[in-house]
Amino acid sequence: MYRSHTCGELRLANAGQTVTLAGWVQRVRKMGSLNFIDLRDRYGITQLVADENESKEINELVASLGREYVIQATGVVTERQSKNNKIDTGEIEIKLTELKVLNKAVTPPFTIEENTDGGEDIRAQYRYLDLRRAPLKRALELRHRMAHEVRNYLSNVGFMEIETPYLIKSTPEGARDFVVPSRMNPGEFYALPQSPQTFKQLLMVAGYDRYFQIVRCFRDEDLRADRQPEFTQIDCEMSFVEREDVLNTFEGLAKALFKNVLGKEFTEAFPRISYKDAMEYYGSDKPDIRFGMKMNTITDMVKGHNFAVLDDAEYVGAIVVPGCAGYTRKQLDELTEWVKRPQVGAKGLIYIKYNAEGIKSSIDKFYSADDLKAICSAIGAAEGDLVLVLSGEKKKMQGALGTLRLEMGNRLGLRDNSVFAPLWVCDFPLLEWDDETQRFYAMHHPFTAPKPEDMEKFYSNKKEDLEQVNANAYDFVLNGTEVGGGSIRIHDSKVQERMFEVLGFSKEDADYRFGFIINAFKYGAPPHGGIAFGFDRFCSLFGGQETIRDYIAFPKNNTGRDVMLDAPSRIDMAQMDELFIKSTAPEQK
Ligand code: ASP
Repeated sequence: MYRSHTCGELRLANAGQTVTLAGWVQRVRKMGSLNFIDLRDRYGITQLVADENESKEINELVASLGREYVIQATGVVTERQSKNNKIDTGEIEIKLTELKVLNKAVTPPFTIEENTDGGEDIRAQYRYLDLRRAPLKRALELRHRMAHEVRNYLSNVGFMEIETPYLIKSTPEGARDFVVPSRMNPGEFYALPQSPQTFKQLLMVAGYDRYFQIVRCFRDEDLRADRQPEFTQIDCEMSFVEREDVLNTFEGLAKALFKNVLGKEFTEAFPRISYKDAMEYYGSDKPDIRFGMKMNTITDMVKGHNFAVLDDAEYVGAIVVPGCAGYTRKQLDELTEWVKRPQVGAKGLIYIKYNAEGIKSSIDKFYSADDLKAICSAIGAAEGDLVLVLSGEKKKMQGALGTLRLEMGNRLGLRDNSVFAPLWVCDFPLLEWDDETQRFYAMHHPFTAPKPEDMEKFYSNKKEDLEQVNANAYDFVLNGTEVGGGSIRIHDSKVQERMFEVLGFSKEDADYRFGFIINAFKYGAPPHGGIAFGFDRFCSLFGGQETIRDYIAFPKNNTGRDVMLDAPSRIDMAQMDELFIKSTAPEQK
């Protein structure tokens, strides 16, 4: 037996017991005749102590220990002289009677403690050492608890976890596929799934009316901040359901996670908002509703004052920033520069400072104090508030004002990561027109059903009509992040064929790519719908962290590399030949 207890387990109640622990040496300290060792394992840290006056042999061994040596220690649990209330085992220490080195360790390239001195790159390269640190351990523990809770909850309400294949067929929709050459089928390739979308729908056709899977998905996208080429979804699908059934089921799941993982109870239903309202009031399809500061459309209200900028604008929007009327000239200039950054994209910023002494604005030339007061009162600004106004093209400026809203929320400390504000965004447009390729794309994916009341427009050949078709699609949004998305699906092969037609596929192409699912729908497909949650993101939000990387045991860096394995890497010529592939990469020609 290597150990009787773990390093996180012993308390004062164990005093007097002889125990054996095993773990890693975090630190050795010498104080007078006493030598202390902090011994670490997955469960915590326990202090070991050896007195030079008692055993010379043990103390010689202690003196030889280096950081991260793996040792086995036996001794008596004793009450500590000076207690450490920061750790669970802080009231006791183990008086060593035996010590054995199980394995030596070379000095690690960074300190393995709560706060390390190691930079990101070196820690990524030695991920297995970084994973010994408590913050990462906590992240992975949280992830495990989440996964466990998901499986529990969904199993209890009748869902079956079913695995779907990783080697599948490339589809031209969505992101770029990762592909895998097939040795047995020269010149042919599998694709790794971007999601199990078609498989879960086929499972519905097969009659497995409640499916879920915690599943890896692969998307070969240029990595934007905090994306991973492989990531995990909680993927779910249900048959004989309407939108309401799906939302209720997964609201139940989210509530169970909040309660059982974080101890936060949500008694009310999550708010729901339409895509259109989300854009109008928050300038985003993933509103952060931890704070108010809703956007106001004031396009008509401000016209007719001979101020061309606002008279000619398609859209004028305003937010009321509470308590910021005291912003200085310098602060406002800086904010103006901020909104002009390409990421925000406004041409300029108009402000109204509603002070007790009166109203001051950057448009005083065109608007009297009464005019400005009227605007303020229409949008609920009170004394002490600052009103910020953006104007221009509607879609763009709604987005810009939404970004400004978030920024002001940050500056005012209103986006507290320990506060959780979930909501559903519903009724997305079905299609998105792309000017460059002159075609429609599915906003969610091509299997999403149009809303029944928009069916007529769905069969129209006019672009304006098709643009107005809404989808039976919904997103689950948490603190300004889209955590889940899904829809009621098309289950009629004719409607599915029409969808591919709208997306510009020829009949042959649609058949070649998606024939299997169009065909399956002919054999009695039940009405169905589902959702998938980004599991990594869900975990990081629960952990109050911005980045998902800590919630993945072995993540890639932001150029898609695994720096620990040094992957991706070349393969040798023989392997390439076997796969019938040739590289055109410059150095390999
Ligand atoms: N498969 C979809 C996605 O990955 C989710 C869904 O519609 O269920 O976004």
